[in-house]
Amino acid sequence: MNYLKLSVLPLFLIAFSKTFAQQEAPKLVVGIVVDQMCYEYLYRYETKFSTGGFKRLMSKGANCRSAHYNYVPTYTGPGHASIYTGTTPCNHGIVANDWYSRKYEKPINCVDDFEAKTVGSTTAKGQYSPVNLKVNTITDQLKLERSNSKVISVSIKNRGAILPGGHLSDGSYWFDSKSGCFVTSTFYKESLPGWVSSFNEQKIPDVFLKQSWNTFFSIDQYTESGEDDSPYEYLIGTKTSPTFPYDLTQITSVDNQYDIFTSTPFANTYLTDFAISALKSEKMGQEKGKSDMLCISYSSTDIIVHAFGPQSVELEDTYIRLDREIERLLNELDKTVGKGKYTLFLTADHAVVPVPQLLMDNKLAGGNVFINDSLKSLSNKLEAEFGFNPIKLMDNLNVYLDRTVIQEKKADYDAICNFIKGELRTWNGIKDAYTASDLQNGAGDKWFEMVRSGYNLKESGDVLCILESGYLAKSKDSAHARKGTSHGSPFAYDTHVPLLFYGHSIPKGDIFRTLEITDIASTIAHILNIPFAHVTTGHPILEILQK
Ligand code: ZN
Ligand code: ZN
Repeated sequence: MNYLKLSVLPLFLIAFSKTFAQQEAPKLVVGIVVDQMCYEYLYRYETKFSTGGFKRLMSKGANCRSAHYNYVPTYTGPGHASIYTGTTPCNHGIVANDWYSRKYEKPINCVDDFEAKTVGSTTAKGQYSPVNLKVNTITDQLKLERSNSKVISVSIKNRGAILPGGHLSDGSYWFDSKSGCFVTSTFYKESLPGWVSSFNEQKIPDVFLKQSWNTFFSIDQYTESGEDDSPYEYLIGTKTSPTFPYDLTQITSVDNQYDIFTSTPFANTYLTDFAISALKSEKMGQEKGKSDMLCISYSSTDIIVHAFGPQSVELEDTYIRLDREIERLLNELDKTVGKGKYTLFLTADHAVVPVPQLLMDNKLAGGNVFINDSLKSLSNKLEAEFGFNPIKLMDNLNVYLDRTVIQEKKADYDAICNFIKGELRTWNGIKDAYTASDLQNGAGDKWFEMVRSGYNLKESGDVLCILESGYLAKSKDSAHARKGTSHGSPFAYDTHVPLLFYGHSIPKGDIFRTLEITDIASTIAHILNIPFAHVTTGHPILEILQK
């Protein structure tokens, strides 16, 4: 018996080690988030892409073709936080871009930090950090596990850089649209590294502001989009029609020039330049035996879709140009880190609703919910029913109540919440409403679960609602309110995003199984051989990890 035991045991151990052996980690993980990218753009614009950008990732990597957000609201702050923490707003606490903070008794931005000061300019555009992020990110986890690993995060938007970089990044940099420079905050460091200062001194945005944004190909080739002169598009700067070309010297002024710069694809080129500068200057992925992480979030795609909508020539041109930026970045990574030495993933922080007015004009379901008037009538009804109006504010479809006044008046909090829920359910364009108590104690359909995953006990409202498909909430009706679009819903047009993995240890192929956005962080944890981010609720994508 003893002899048998001894002979079987080593074989068993070999089998065990073969199945579970850790792969060598890549020298660099590059995470790319495209701010607002619908999955279908990969295919809609495919014939105009080069072979070295999106198509290189799609044909040579793992293409997850059914990756979705698994909570509402589908906004930028929650999206970036969920990708990098592997969990939803219910846990990470980034419930919107801006929300009412009971702690500070005022509306806050998701990356507001009232202690932090700007580093890199004299403006207030750097007073931000991840202090509102309640859990750690996969980038934090890399720093905790391997303190010599480097994490750098860059974006035009502050939240696009701050949330991916987590609490321990070696540098999170975003664009200050007042000074036209990349900045950071005292949360991270007291002064800009030399390479960032040198980059800023080149004043690249000023060079772009002397140019015209014209279409990359001749405009008659933009057959995947609607008419260039469309009634659904906003005007930017002093432009009198939403049409090409956009001569930036003509349509900008000193006050708005850098904001308008971010509404052009030139800002994506500028960010690529900055990311490549970070890669080289910080020697990312270039030292033996360690893994670094570079997070890049392209913001202008979102700024452009808000103004022009997903059917615009402007957006099509933006993606044609972004494709060339991705190609340039990949070529630089091949040169600097080495082909097959880095792993890259590309996804989006949310997708987008088709322009509601365009849906309505085409007899499709959709519309606008104008909140101000309805809220006024709700307040009157509350006065009549309870003798006072307990609503503090309504933001992001969350109704925040004045809990102190309710307590002082010894009013029935649950009765008030249920009254508001009942009223919201009667509003045109509202699909359903939920009280905080429903979300804490109940269970329900897919939409209920998505609202619950996006609901945070401390940060969310007292009553929440979701809109019908194709609807957007606006404060009041105007010609302006009926143009452009946004995002935030639990529906496929907002939740279905690209998810591409490419490079070191990534097998080639399409994965059609439905995946959730929270699955990315744990997959990256396995690729880097590091522990999961602490509050991970997603699951590793086995098709990518198992060979
Ligand atoms: Zn976004
Ligand atoms: Zn947006």
